[in-house]
Amino acid sequence: MLDDTVQTVPARTAAAPGHRAAGVVVRPGDVAGLGTVLGVWAHPDDEAYLSGGLMAIAREAGSRVVCVTATRGELGTPDPVAWPPDRLGAARTVELARCLDVLGVREHHWLGYHDGECSSVPAEEAVARVADLVGRIAPDTVLTFGPDGITGHPDHQVVAAWAAAAFDRAAPSGARLLQAAVPARRAPRWSDVSARLGVYQPGYPVTVPDEQLAVDLVLPPETAARKVRALAAQATQTAGIMAAMGIDGYTAWVGEEAFVERPGAAVMTGRGARR
Ligand SMILES: [Zn+2]
Repeated sequence: MLDDTVQTVPARTAAAPGHRAAGVVVRPGDVAGLGTVLGVWAHPDDEAYLSGGLMAIAREAGSRVVCVTATRGELGTPDPVAWPPDRLGAARTVELARCLDVLGVREHHWLGYHDGECSSVPAEEAVARVADLVGRIAPDTVLTFGPDGITGHPDHQVVAAWAAAAFDRAAPSGARLLQAAVPARRAPRWSDVSARLGVYQPGYPVTVPDEQLAVDLVLPPETAARKVRALAAQATQTAGIMAAMGIDGYTAWVGEEAFVERPGAAVMTGRGARR
């Protein structure tokens, strides 16, 4: 679905193969151009896995970065006896704070919804709350999931819809809505790992050709290491995977971040064309 719709974006179809359109973030130095960044995510660890490096680079560049998390991820365990929801939600609250501290992100908001139940939240209520944050923060760039939700998790897909609706309602003129993506070139390398770890639901990830990416960051080693430290702070989610993969393998696995421009958006082309 993402593949089909992404091809309607003018800047991406206009880019010649192997060449990137203006406004595409491919180097750390490009990140400052994203301006104030607001991330809208479903569970603690979504923000770090999908944008931890980008957030750290943005903060180092002096940009404002704000993170919103819909749920405390209280169901995120294979062992709910040892980790009942109240205990896990409390632990993940502390873990996320530590993670964001490692990344230099000082502003975070919880929406306070229940893990796995985002689709039961009245959309208007959630959209109004996210739109209120968008209106107050006035981000230049909103980062969130695409309609696929990256992994296919229903909460991710619902949050993607909330973020897009809130963006349409309240984002400043010229702001960009960027949706997390998996570059096609990465999928083969990591498909065995992803399958073993059960990262994706069947049929996922939906992958995107390189030339359609709006952000295509290979993190510098020091940024990748910092991202790993941030993820390590969310030990309930990451300790087992890190141990299984080894630190070098894990660092390589999380060492790239990619986003597409929201399909249908008119993006910067160097002629000043905006949304
Ligand atoms: Zn998640």
